[in-house]
Amino acid sequence: MIEFKNVYKKYENNDNTAINDLNLQIQDGDFFVLVGPSGSGKTTTLKMINRLIKQTSGDITIDGKNIDDFDLREMRLQMGYVLQNIALFPNMTIEDNITIQPESLKWSKEKRHKVALDLLSKVGLDPEKYAKRLPRELSGGEQQRVGIVRALASNPKIVLMDEPFSALDPISRNQLQELVLKLHQEMKMTFIFVTHDMNEAVRLGNTIAIMRLGHLEQIGTRDEIVHNPKNKFVNGFFKNQQNDDKKLKLIIDSQKCQEVDKQTPDLTEEDNISDLASLLRSQEFALVQSADGKIWKLTTQSLLNYLSRDGE
Ligand code: ADP
Ligand code: MG
Repeated sequence: MIEFKNVYKKYENNDNTAINDLNLQIQDGDFFVLVGPSGSGKTTTLKMINRLIKQTSGDITIDGKNIDDFDLREMRLQMGYVLQNIALFPNMTIEDNITIQPESLKWSKEKRHKVALDLLSKVGLDPEKYAKRLPRELSGGEQQRVGIVRALASNPKIVLMDEPFSALDPISRNQLQELVLKLHQEMKMTFIFVTHDMNEAVRLGNTIAIMRLGHLEQIGTRDEIVHNPKNKFVNGFFKNQQNDDKKLKLIIDSQKCQEVDKQTPDLTEEDNISDLASLLRSQEFALVQSADGKIWKLTTQSLLNYLSRDGE
């Protein structure tokens, strides 16, 4: 577990307090998303975890041990870091870029080679084609796949990602979101992901922490945040996604929903999305009848998928 206790950060050349009494816990294996507007302190928070930035006061611990008590080099090797700007080394092949950390860990050449090829396949880049290429021979989306793979190569416990997809086009962003979800399920590391995009946060996060002016506005599971936004600020983040007066037909038409045998429906497709949301607070799924008489099983997942859809 990573824990922040009463953490403050004030930059020397800046009168404002960047981080203002931050308290939070990140559980092992979580997909933790830190979301908030620009300047709210997300990057500062992330960089304090791997000690790229030192807090002014307060404690940060990993499994109860103060991060200052870890050997810095060893600690960094236990943490993958993915940046918004991909920052691959331009004169090194893709394979060599991926195996930078394994090399510092003195893994054998064979082991490094195997890891690079395995990871490239995992993210849909044919190793035969890509391993020996240089970064400039890849598209932006492909380079960011390599950026992610590089952060995972030494099998770290914690992976930090700072707005890794914000420079990509919507289609690549969509594919890479799917990809990090898949990698998180397979590799069971703690992912800490920073974004200013609430759609992305809801799509990815298991736990979502909403940041504003250097402190947490709300933290909870994504269902808690979606169903019970705590105040106007959090709610405002969802404004474009409120869909209160939209019909359930939209979900049925746009999402893969499960059809079930005839049972008494809870709602019809002409009911509103907000009706579904309230129903899902007290039951696991709702049965919704479409105009053709079919009955569909809609879950919180269907609702979230609809709310976090791209391009609208
Ligand atoms: P975010 O990542 O959410 O956009 P940051 O953590 O980068 O926010 O910044 C938080 C606050 O700290 C902002 O007000 C920003 O201007 C300030 N800040 C960030 N880095 C520095 C720095 N190196 N020197 C002075 N102020 C900084
Ligand atoms: Mg930032």
